[in-house]
Amino acid sequence: MNKPERFRPPSVDTVLRSPGGEVAIARHGRAAATEAVRRVLEQLRGGGQPLASSPEEISRTVLDWLEERGRPSQRPVINLTGTVLHTNLGRALLAEEAIEAVVTAMRAPTNLEYAIETGQRGERDAHVRELIRELTGAEDALLVNNNASAVLLVLNTFAREREAIVSRGELIEIGGAFRMPDIMSRAGALLREIGTTNRTHLRDYAEAIGPQTGLLMKVHTSNYVVQGFTAEVEPAELAKLAREHGLPFVDDLGSGTLVDLSRWGLRKEKTVQDALKGGADLVTFSGDKLLGGPQAGIVAGRKDLVARLAKNPLKRALRLDKLRLAALEATLRLYRAPDSLAQRLPTLRLFTRKPAELRALAERLQPQLAAALGAGWIVDPIDCASQIGSGALPLETLPSAGLAIKPAGKAAGSAVEKLAAAFRAVPVPIIGRIAQGALIFDLRCLEDEALFAGQLDALNAEPGDGLA
Ligand SMILES: *Cc1c(COP(=O)(O)O)cnc(C)c1O
Repeated sequence: MNKPERFRPPSVDTVLRSPGGEVAIARHGRAAATEAVRRVLEQLRGGGQPLASSPEEISRTVLDWLEERGRPSQRPVINLTGTVLHTNLGRALLAEEAIEAVVTAMRAPTNLEYAIETGQRGERDAHVRELIRELTGAEDALLVNNNASAVLLVLNTFAREREAIVSRGELIEIGGAFRMPDIMSRAGALLREIGTTNRTHLRDYAEAIGPQTGLLMKVHTSNYVVQGFTAEVEPAELAKLAREHGLPFVDDLGSGTLVDLSRWGLRKEKTVQDALKGGADLVTFSGDKLLGGPQAGIVAGRKDLVARLAKNPLKRALRLDKLRLAALEATLRLYRAPDSLAQRLPTLRLFTRKPAELRALAERLQPQLAAALGAGWIVDPIDCASQIGSGALPLETLPSAGLAIKPAGKAAGSAVEKLAAAFRAVPVPIIGRIAQGALIFDLRCLEDEALFAGQLDALNAEPGDGLA
C-alpha cells in the first residue's frame, strides 16, 4: 500500500545555499562546487536514495567528493615493508642537502647549460662529471634518465646492428619489465648469448668474437644468485680479451656503489671504482639504488667511449633535467665526507639502524597499536629481516625488528587482508606485508614515530575476532 515515494532531490541552488554548500564554494570555488552538487544529485537519483537526503547531507557528500578529487594522486606513504629501496615506493629517499638543491633549482633559472665565466653555452652533465671522476677515478662520465637508459644508450652506440656478447647466466629480468634481451633488441643490438646458465668460460667469449662483435658485456645478476656448479669469467680477464680485439668491455653494475659497504658492517658489494680498476671500459649504474640519490643512469669510464655516447642522438632523448642533476650533484658531494655519510644519506642511515634501536621502537609502539586495534587483535614485537631491495645485494638481509598483528580468535582468512587495507586507507597510508597469517610491520624505515602514531586515530579496522 505504502508505495515508496520517489526521491525528490533538492535543487542545485538549495544545496549550494546550505551552510555545507557555502563551505564547498569557499574552499573549492563556485564552478567546482556546482559541478560536484550536480554529480552527487545525479548519483542520488540513479541510486534511488531515501527521502531523507537533506541539503545538509548532500553537501557533506559533495565536500567529501571535492576533497577526494583535490588530493594529489602521488602522496607520501609509510614504508613498513622491510624493503629499504622499494621500487614501487620510489626507491631512495633524498638527503636534506639534495632536497634543498632541488628546491633551489626549481625556484630560479640556473646555469644548467650555461658557462657563467665565458657567457657561452655550457654542458649540463658537467655539473656532475668532475664529482664522478673524483669519486670513482673514471676518465669521464655521462648522465641519463635511469640505468635502463644507460644500458640502452651503450648498446645502441656500440652494438647497433652488431653483436653484444653476454653470458646466458646474466640475461636478467628486473622488476617492471626490464629484460636484458628486450633492451638489446630495442637498442638494435643482436644478442649473442654464450655459455650456459650456470657456467661460462673465457673461451666461450673468445670463440664468439668476430667481425660482427660490437662489445662484451657483463651484467650484475642483481636479483638472483647462481649457486652450486658454477663458473664465470673474472672481469679482468674479460677486459684483457676485449682489449686484444679492440672492443669495449661494459660492466652493468646495476645498483652500483661508491663506498665499501663493509665499513658499516654490510656485505661488501663491488664498487664502481673496483669495476673500473678491474678493467671495465664503461660501467653503468643507477642513481637511486645504493647510491641513494635521484633516479638517474650513470655511465662512467673511458673518455673516447663517453664522447661517442654523448654524440648519439638518443642521449638528447634520455637526458636528465635540472632538478635531478641538482639532486645528484648534492648527493655525490656527500660522498666526499664518508665519515658522515651514514647520518646524512637516508639510504645508508636506514641500512645501518641497529636491531636494538628498532626493537625498542617496536616495544614503544606496541601498546599504542594494540589500543588502536582493540581486543580482537594480538600485537607482538618481533625480530624480522629487512631487505636492501631494488636488485642490490639480493641475498643480504639486515636483522631488524617490527610488529606482527594477528587475529585474537578464529577469524576469516581475509581478516588480515582487510586489516592491511584499513592501514592503507589512513591519511598517510601505512604499508606492511602479510606473512604466515599476520600483518608484519618492519620498522627499519620508520623514522617519524609521531607520524605513524598520528595515523592510528584514523584507523578503521574491523575486529580481528570477527565479532563486530
Ligand atoms: C636495476 C638494474 C637496471 C635498471 O636500472 P634502473 O635504474 O632501474 O633503470 C639495469 N641493470 C641492472 C643490473 C640492474 O640491477
